[in-house]
Amino acid sequence: MTNQMAMSDTGRIMTTDVLIIGGGPTGMSCSIYLDKLGISNLVVERRHEISLHPKAHEISA
Ligand SMILES: Cc1cc2nc3c(=O)[nH]c(=O)nc-3n(C[C@H](O)[C@H](O)[C@H](O)COP(=O)(O)OP(=O)(O)OC[C@H]3O[C@@H](n4cnc5c(N)ncnc54)[C@H](O)[C@@H]3O)c2cc1C
Repeated sequence: MTNQMAMSDTGRIMTTDVLIIGGGPTGMSCSIYLDKLGISNLVVERRHEISLHPKAHEISA
């Protein structure tokens, strides 16, 4: 099942079942749920730092 590939900052090739692009709430939630199911996953985030401003002051679902 492992067939997704990504290259790390150091040029190392990594393989995983699921490659998640983006470490926002959606990507991080997906990663947590996949972990619970025992499915390997890798989150790739383009930003190197957290945002200066909060993007979720309140929950309005
Ligand atoms: C100023 C502001 C205030 C907000 N306040 C609230 C609030 O009070 N309550 C609320 O419920 N919601 C709020 N929101 C909305 C909430 O932040 C979004 O709904 C939520 O962040 C969406 O999550 P997401 O994971 O889908 O996307 P995002 O949070 O946008 O995450 C996507 C991630 O993917 C990364 N990415 C994109 N393209 C690539 C790529 N090619 N390679 C690698 N990484 C990539 C981005 O850097 C980003 O980190 C607010 C938003 C803003 C901007």
